[in-house]
Amino acid sequence: MAKRESIEDAGETRLDPMGLALAEARAATARGEVPVGAAIVKNGAVLATAGNAPLARHDPTAHAEMLAIRAACATLNDERLSGCDLYVTLEPCAMCAAAISFARIRRLYFGAYDPKGGAVEHGPRFFTQATCHHAPEVYGGIRESEARELLRVFFRERR
Ligand code: ZN
Repeated sequence: MAKRESIEDAGETRLDPMGLALAEARAATARGEVPVGAAIVKNGAVLATAGNAPLARHDPTAHAEMLAIRAACATLNDERLSGCDLYVTLEPCAMCAAAISFARIRRLYFGAYDPKGGAVEHGPRFFTQATCHHAPEVYGGIRESEARELLRVFFRERR
């Protein structure tokens, strides 16, 4: 639990990055977007949070992870996020898994598993491929039921 120690060492309030990601997912729901949210943390500080926004931005790449990575890179003035951890409420798709790899994210924490569109534990299993040159440590199922419930309600109300 080196991460928790570093947060306590920094004397900061204990962070709840997945809670922030879930809040972004709820905000996405309110905008009519698929409820997925993300947060990026480094050394106990939140660098970026973002919610899914392809509809609002007219941009199919505007997934929560992509927006959070862009914002964190802008904050750090760096194209890499070495030592950063990404929290996202849903298993990343292939595009986001690639971006996470290119960004050199240290650890990936995700909420709900996504058998249909996920690319970490499902489908291409991006990080296990020989052509993937940086794989984060992966922790799935973090606050899974909350993340899954947001998606379930969203899609039920759209049908
Ligand atoms: Zn994605």
